[in-house]
Amino acid sequence: MRTSQMLMPTLREVPAEAEVVSHQLLLRAGFIRKSASGIYTYLPLAQRVLKKIKEIVREEMDKQGGQELLMPIVQPAEMWLESGRWHVYGPELFRLKDRHNRDFCLGPTHEEVITILVRGEVRSYKQMPLLLYQIQNKFRDERRPRFGLMRGREFIMKDLYSFDRDEAGLDISYQKMYQAYTNVFNRCGLKFRPVEADSGAIGGSDTHEFMVLADSGEAAILFCSQCDYAANIEKAAVPAAGADPTAQALELKEVSTPGQKTIEQVAEFLGIAPHQTIKTLLYRTDKEVVAALVRGDRDVNEVKLLNALGALTIELADEVQVRQATGAPAGYVGPVGLSKIRIIADPEVMALSNAVAGANKADAHYINVNPNRDFKADIVEDIRMVQACEPCPKCGAELQQARGIEVGQIFKLGTKYSKALGATFLDENGKEKPIVMGCYGIGVSRTMAAAIEQNHDQDGIIWPASIAPYHAIVIPVSAKDEKQMQLAESLYNKLNQIGVETVLDDRAERPGVKFKDADLIGYPLRIVVGNKAMTDGLVEVRQRKSGQTDLIPLDQIPEKVK
Ligand code: ATP
Ligand code: MG
Ligand code: MG
Ligand code: MG
Repeated sequence: MRTSQMLMPTLREVPAEAEVVSHQLLLRAGFIRKSASGIYTYLPLAQRVLKKIKEIVREEMDKQGGQELLMPIVQPAEMWLESGRWHVYGPELFRLKDRHNRDFCLGPTHEEVITILVRGEVRSYKQMPLLLYQIQNKFRDERRPRFGLMRGREFIMKDLYSFDRDEAGLDISYQKMYQAYTNVFNRCGLKFRPVEADSGAIGGSDTHEFMVLADSGEAAILFCSQCDYAANIEKAAVPAAGADPTAQALELKEVSTPGQKTIEQVAEFLGIAPHQTIKTLLYRTDKEVVAALVRGDRDVNEVKLLNALGALTIELADEVQVRQATGAPAGYVGPVGLSKIRIIADPEVMALSNAVAGANKADAHYINVNPNRDFKADIVEDIRMVQACEPCPKCGAELQQARGIEVGQIFKLGTKYSKALGATFLDENGKEKPIVMGCYGIGVSRTMAAAIEQNHDQDGIIWPASIAPYHAIVIPVSAKDEKQMQLAESLYNKLNQIGVETVLDDRAERPGVKFKDADLIGYPLRIVVGNKAMTDGLVEVRQRKSGQTDLIPLDQIPEKVK
């Protein structure tokens, strides 16, 4: 490809709306353009990167016996009514109606469609294990789409579903996917950690999140410095069995709200011992209160209405939970006054008024809460400041904290969907049983963004070679010099012939402009054809990552860069 013909609209300025590096660089380097909040066009350079990530994903899924299929994006409400998720999925589900007024949604995930498919096609234990996957655009009307491709409302996901006859089979499928995910992220050149996660509403089962380590990550993880234990903060916050609960005293300071409760009262209210570790309490209150406040912000009237009906909808992370609630005195924040971590870190939440706050418990909610008035804002600044107090549950060593970007998750579903949707099979003895399932997601577009968060410098992106849009760029110093252009052209042709994906910068721009663009876009290799090429037959080869520059004879280039 010649840059003169490429659509790669690079920008010199950092776009104001972009808060994180990957978002800034994807815009500046001409990879994406916004269409609506959380919805983007992938320009040609991005599309090349996405194709490479998808190809790595495909190879690793296929290696484990995965079979690719493609399911519809538009899903009928009936399927979701049947699984019971239509009414609990909440506002993240994009819902639509057809001309006959029938309800549909845009798929945020495909458990319903695939389980109903398998229900119709699989009868016998002999047809399993089955690993089915697709790579497709997913739709989630995220509460806060942000950070560019990191949290989109339309994004690309690989989702695989496993179908087994029993738990032992599921264990094997899960292990296969664990291995496949490890391979995928290694091959993408990422530094990542699989962490134990909380299976939440589904309960009890194994689940791991694959976290790319980056300070900009939205998730907090804890890992052991001595052994391989690693968990996300939700999971790690559950007190470890055998850990001494008195090891750390609470260090929470109280809020200055009139009517505040003491730490002992709060602990009693939450049903935990006052001397339990700080992490546990912070996590619990953090999750509960932030969720409720945010919900109050979205639609105070709706919350009031629900209150009047005796129920309050609280949006907790991904799930919607319906709890009993009563209207408590306005402007009074009791136990929840301790929940300061994210409230302080998050100006959006601090700016709310007339919100709803409360613990995740019946009869424990307050309406008309004003965070600035009712919460003291200077206690703990950020969850990152909360040190892990609990020792590693595996070896007792100290736990370390890091930030992570969730690029994938694997999950043992068990029989949740097969039971709800009646997907059964006949075992060796002709007995009917529910299929045992797992689900496994990779955020393909988020992985592209995560790769940039981990691989960049002040000049731009530094693509890992395996997912770079091109491997090399050939830059003639002077496009006007015919001889130079000829040498550059023949090198460019030669490299492409031998499989080194190469771009030729044939634009009539100053070399400085070309170099800046090359660094910004992040080609792993930059090959400059200048005067030395004509006088001594030498060209300059620079590695984007290390900055190492070598003068190499022209005829040796194909051999050296291959
Ligand atoms: P998050 O916790 O970030 O909201 P999730 O746990 O809801 O993600 P999953 O349902 O586990 O996401 O989906 C599988 C993968 O899809 C995630 O691990 C992530 O990489 C990706 N993903 C999920 N939501 C988004 C999004 N809004 N934008 C881009 N990628 C996403
Ligand atoms: Mg989510
Ligand atoms: Mg998640
Ligand atoms: Mg997840």
